[in-house]
Amino acid sequence: MLVAVVKEAREDETRVALTPDAVRALTEKGFEVAVESSAGLQSGASDADYQAAGASISNRRAELLASAEVVPVVNALPAEDQEKLKSGSVMIGFLRPLEDPASLAVAVKRGVTLFSMELVPRITRAQAMDALSSMATVAGYKAVIVAANHLPKLFPMLMTAAGTIPPAKVLVLGAGVAGLQAIATARRLGAVVEAYDVRAAAGEQVKSLGAKFIEVDLGGLQTEDKGGYAKELSPEALELGRQAIAKAAKTTDVIITTAQVPGRRAPLMIPAAAVEGMRPGSIIFDLAAPAGGNCEVTKPGETIVYHGVTIFGPTNIVAEVPVHASMLYSRNLLNFLQLILKKGELNIDRSDEIIAGSCVAFGGEIVNERAAAVAARQG
Ligand code: NAD
Repeated sequence: MLVAVVKEAREDETRVALTPDAVRALTEKGFEVAVESSAGLQSGASDADYQAAGASISNRRAELLASAEVVPVVNALPAEDQEKLKSGSVMIGFLRPLEDPASLAVAVKRGVTLFSMELVPRITRAQAMDALSSMATVAGYKAVIVAANHLPKLFPMLMTAAGTIPPAKVLVLGAGVAGLQAIATARRLGAVVEAYDVRAAAGEQVKSLGAKFIEVDLGGLQTEDKGGYAKELSPEALELGRQAIAKAAKTTDVIITTAQVPGRRAPLMIPAAAVEGMRPGSIIFDLAAPAGGNCEVTKPGETIVYHGVTIFGPTNIVAEVPVHASMLYSRNLLNFLQLILKKGELNIDRSDEIIAGSCVAFGGEIVNERAAAVAARQG
């Protein structure tokens, strides 16, 4: 029963799927773990650390993939790697099954069982496997740190003999996991923080962190689905939010935007005109850039200046914090692996709610309905 960890293929990826701690937990249970040489280097884990945790180190990537029963990854393996996987083996990671199911086609065809960490249901039993929340926590923190570093101002209020410096004003759009972490981080740095979310429940959480919640009267509209996620809004409801945001933006130094609706393009919350109304030197940090962005002028993967406002559109911000992003992700993965690795064997109980919810492909077919529908649409 071999678990293989290979170097991530994506150029901007610095994380590793399993850290030495997780490897040790597996080897102590009798699983064999092999790690591609230098897979953990950028996350602070050397080959020697993996060896000390009981793994073997190899330079033969193709051989590792061909002999593994389980391949935990951060991002889906590229097609040429998927070609090597055994039928019946497992690939698990952030596989983007709703955004790009075509990139999994080779593995599906080869009969590889695919599990997507994005699809792990957010039920209490799965909290320790919630990799989306782990990454959102890291992203929310880092966004504020990068923005504070680039802002031509200080964050805290300072009273000095030369006069008083007012605190920076931060606006957070979307108060989910990333947004709440951004609020907490900006507050710790001394900023005055406002936040907006369509989910009424977010208001209490925002206020408990010492930030002001921007109330928008949506006329009792149902904004939340039964999973606690935001629903896609009507154009009218979206417009009401945009008006409140444009007004607040005029006096805001930093906007951190995190609003997402699972499986959809991110909602447009900051039109170009609202950016034009902001003061020069202000910053927009668009954490929704991977899903198209919440700001109309965001360019995913780039940092641009528009009317004197700097707009960050990072597509992999967590890769800038690889040590802790990998540590959290690896723990989430390990907790999931414990569900499918029993008594030294791969044991996939598809009646388990977590396994059923996160399984994308099994036995040569896409078994997740939403992913299958996207795959059919994309042809
Ligand atoms: P997300 O990344 O999908 O979205 C970020 C935020 O954007 C959400 O708060 C959402 O309401 C908001 N949003 C979407 N469209 C918007 C719009 N047009 N205008 C303003 N805001 C908009 O969300 P997430 O951070 O993954 O969390 C979603 C929910 O799930 C939250 O309630 C969170 O507390 C909950 N959650 C539950 C668990 C659990 O284990 N039970 C774990 C994590 C998160």
